[in-house]
Amino acid sequence: MALAVTSSASIVFNNINNNNLGTEQGVLFSNGGFQPSDRVFPVGLSLTRKRSAAVTAVNAEPKRSDSIVPSAATVFAPDVVDKTAEVEDIEKLAKDLENASPLEIMDKALEKYGNDIAIAFSGAEDVALIEYAHLTGRPFRVFSLDTGRLNPETYKFFDQVEKHYGIRIEYMFPDAVEVQALVRTKGLFSFYEDGHQECCSVRKVRPLRRALKGLRAWITGQRKDQSPGTRSEVPVVQVDPVFEGLDGGSGSLVKWNPVANVAGNDVWNILRTMEVPVNSLHAQGYISIGCEPCTRSVLPGQHEREGRWWWEDAKAKECGLHKGNIKEETGNGNASVGNESAVVSDIFESENIVNLTRPGVENLLKMENRKDGWVVVLYAPWCPFCQAMEASYVELADKLAGTDVKVGKFRADADQKAFAQQELQLGSFPTILFFPKHSSRAIKYPSEKRDVDSLMAFINALR
Ligand code: SF4
Repeated sequence: MALAVTSSASIVFNNINNNNLGTEQGVLFSNGGFQPSDRVFPVGLSLTRKRSAAVTAVNAEPKRSDSIVPSAATVFAPDVVDKTAEVEDIEKLAKDLENASPLEIMDKALEKYGNDIAIAFSGAEDVALIEYAHLTGRPFRVFSLDTGRLNPETYKFFDQVEKHYGIRIEYMFPDAVEVQALVRTKGLFSFYEDGHQECCSVRKVRPLRRALKGLRAWITGQRKDQSPGTRSEVPVVQVDPVFEGLDGGSGSLVKWNPVANVAGNDVWNILRTMEVPVNSLHAQGYISIGCEPCTRSVLPGQHEREGRWWWEDAKAKECGLHKGNIKEETGNGNASVGNESAVVSDIFESENIVNLTRPGVENLLKMENRKDGWVVVLYAPWCPFCQAMEASYVELADKLAGTDVKVGKFRADADQKAFAQQELQLGSFPTILFFPKHSSRAIKYPSEKRDVDSLMAFINALR
């Protein structure tokens, strides 16, 4: 598919170290062959000659085997590589490309690895990687992990992307026996109970490992600004610190992160400028997009990672795909819930809201014939969802003042979290409980609607 490049495209190219722009008869790969394109390429990228001997067109005939073993790798014997020299080469390359544009980095990656490299596409704004690859005019491969739990919108988006770029995405699926064992033993939503790591390991990490075993390099959409405190060290290219490639052993895989230095807003500017199709979930407030049960929209101003695995601590919010870029906490980083809690001031401050201590809550749990009903929010002051409901909870407390329902709050993060999870049904923050007058059993508010009317309806149904 040829894309008309208008003057607005200079937004992309102007970043390429001020290279002059020139029109070149580039080649685009589509539907099994190379097709001429009348697109504009930066002169400095030299896009023609070497490409004619380029790699097999995997996008035309997607592999149906268990891994995405590239045909080029099966045709040519792998070179004997001095790994120490290669590591040094990659480190030097990372320095050389630190200030390069994403397009320049993508071009270098595709030029260097040909059919032995593929873009990992999650179905979110990392579609920018596909656009950059497309803009280089080189053939490229794309793979995606189909966990079986993605949103319908994401599947539709995959289809749209395939059609837009004339490519086939090489999907990787989890091992059916492993999924079966997990679900039969622990149910469909075990990640809400004991964390997402086990499910992610089965549905994402192992399929990814299989995919990467067929490659020498991969391209990710990791950005430094995605997880402050955990992804702050993402070089544009690195020897993959976690996974192995085709030759096996550590150092056998190279990871390219062309948008490492690009801010989320700038990625969106590119997508809009180039009229790239985007996942319709973004229009519903989703920023980061993953599996349906583990992704939700975020509030204005919230960080995108807060829409993922929101019931877990910030420091646990990596699925294992990019563990090597997770920075250890130093004691003052904002990745730590405990440390966040130390610097954020308290919320739900009102004369009509009782600040319950641990013994106070334990008393509520024991009391069988209490005089009043109690509504209690389990919260963490740093939690943006708690902050968002502060006004309605204070208003609720004002409305209930002097009635037979008392309103309380219990700070349930840090040291109190394990107790709250075990005894108070804490899943994610905020959790709202109602302790009826004549029962020792607390009833958990089941809805995400936290406006005063919804909360009053809940209380009135139980008081
Ligand atoms: Fe499982 Fe959620 Fe991880 Fe998807 S994101 S693999 S559903 S835990």
